[in-house]
Amino acid sequence: MTAITDKGTAKALDDQLASLDLAGRLSLVASLGGRTVFTTSLGIEDQVITAAIGTHRLPIDVATLETGRLFKETVDLIGETESQYDITITRYHPLKDDIDEYVAKYGMNGFYESVEARHACCGVRKLKPLARALEGASFWITGLRRGQSGNRAETPFAEFDAERNLIKINVLADWDIETLKAYVEENAVPVNPLHARGYPSIGCEPCTRAIKPGEPERAGRWWWENDEKRECGLHVPEAALPSLESSAL
Ligand code: SF4
Repeated sequence: MTAITDKGTAKALDDQLASLDLAGRLSLVASLGGRTVFTTSLGIEDQVITAAIGTHRLPIDVATLETGRLFKETVDLIGETESQYDITITRYHPLKDDIDEYVAKYGMNGFYESVEARHACCGVRKLKPLARALEGASFWITGLRRGQSGNRAETPFAEFDAERNLIKINVLADWDIETLKAYVEENAVPVNPLHARGYPSIGCEPCTRAIKPGEPERAGRWWWENDEKRECGLHVPEAALPSLESSAL
């Protein structure tokens, strides 16, 4: 069954999803036809979504971007989560040619040197694999929350993604961190041990640090950059990113 993915459908879904619980939101999207993909970073939000998908046996493809620079704890958690919920989490890796080209131009850790180099790295290690993960998808489920940072404060439950021609579904848009922790506790959801060591938001190892008390949840991501709105590009329209001179995108 082909799903309709346009602005009007996204708006109607946004209204419908607001009154449902997590399982209800996921079930509704999975019932609409078309391919539904959930991309997990293995963070606490995404572990809660994976738990709901696995527990309710929902027909949603679970995928992760295995950038090659993840923490060992994160990589270990992929396998542990698959075992606990008897699901497959499909790993999408960067292409060797893209990495070789990046390293030749910027160096392996060139992302510390400029925003352009950083976006180029996220381009080859995240954005291109994401495009492969979302091929043919009608719905893209994410764990974005309004409380994660100022530029996520207006996150809707459903929004039309014109660049990818799909509807992006943010099933946890209105959840706060305390609700997440309670869900994890009640349902024995496996979580990344780094959360307990001061990492509320976990990305690639060289680009994530623990935060200090009182800092925003995403302050430890690309902490050396001054832009308060820094993101990796997964959830930012391509046109809003700095121009990328490399062939990263
Ligand atoms: S988070 Fe860092 S290492 Fe990971 S893809 Fe982006 S720049 Fe590269």
